Amino acid sequence: MSNKPHLSIIVPVHNEEENILELYEKLYNTLLMIEKTYELIFVDDGSTDNTFEKIKNIKDSKVKVVRFQRNYGKAAALSCGFKKAKGDIVITLDGDLQDDPKEIPRFLEELKKYDMVSGWKSKRHDPISKTVPSRFFNWLTRLITGVKINDFNCGYKAYNKYVVKNINLYGELHRYIPALAYWKGYTVGEIEVEHHPRIHGESKYGAERLLKGFLDLITVTFLMMYKKRPLHVFGGIGILLGLSGVIISIYLMTLWVTGIKIGDRPLLMLGILLIVIGAQFISLGLIGELITNSRNNDDYIIKYDSYELENGR
Ligand code: UDP
Ligand code: MG
Repeated sequence: MSNKPHLSIIVPVHNEEENILELYEKLYNTLLMIEKTYELIFVDDGSTDNTFEKIKNIKDSKVKVVRFQRNYGKAAALSCGFKKAKGDIVITLDGDLQDDPKEIPRFLEELKKYDMVSGWKSKRHDPISKTVPSRFFNWLTRLITGVKINDFNCGYKAYNKYVVKNINLYGELHRYIPALAYWKGYTVGEIEVEHHPRIHGESKYGAERLLKGFLDLITVTFLMMYKKRPLHVFGGIGILLGLSGVIISIYLMTLWVTGIKIGDRPLLMLGILLIVIGAQFISLGLIGELITNSRNNDDYIIKYDSYELENGR
């Protein structure tokens, strides 16, 4: 048997002991019908219940499990799954039975047209404390990122392998995978998926996700726009502030030359402050440049390269 499957299904799980076996069975039945080779990667994100043991006991060589030392978060779990995935097509879904495995064939169909396809929980079965903020969040993300999809934070997604190998997830940036992919130049499709209420276990995300999600949106926007040239952002702000400081100081100096006392003018303080802050912003930009350069990771993706052909790849 070839060890390279066609599909890699990734399921991040944190304390899902009551869901895991039912999910496995559903996945198994769906995948049986699809008749493609596959691997099923469970990433146990530091569960403190019997999730790991339950996965471990599944007698199926297609089931792989990676267990984290502690709970690192869904983005880390997905990122790990992406690294492990061997399939040409990668599918991620939540492990709480809210995402229905029977949608997989539809994802595969749509993936023929796009580099990645995101699920859209159009009829979402979650408490209102979740759905209303989520609407706002999706609207804002659409506005800022320019990616025209309805549901950014759906765990159910399908990718062509090259997409997941080319995006760098950390923190809680899993919410922004469509944006990260889109900015790299990949096409992003969306299909409506059926969403079930959570029957067993608890949601791992509470109200704090709103704040975090918002901060992450700033990070993502910033990363995408200015990762290459930090000095263009910080230096720009620095010059603006510093210059206003210099103008104020020149003005005060002309007063001083004509014999007017300026020592007790609040404006003097402001002028000096602006110059100092301006210099700091410029230094910050330079440090940013240093870090970006030393990391030296290319941000472009090559579609075709005749050098590689020459090397016989
Ligand atoms: N999850 C995880 N690590 C975490 C939190 C969640 O792997 O730190 C998994 C969880 O087990 C589930 C999926 O991510 O399979 C989605 O989590 P959850 O259902 O709690 O999110 P919600 O559906 O409430 O947005
Ligand atoms: Mg859920």
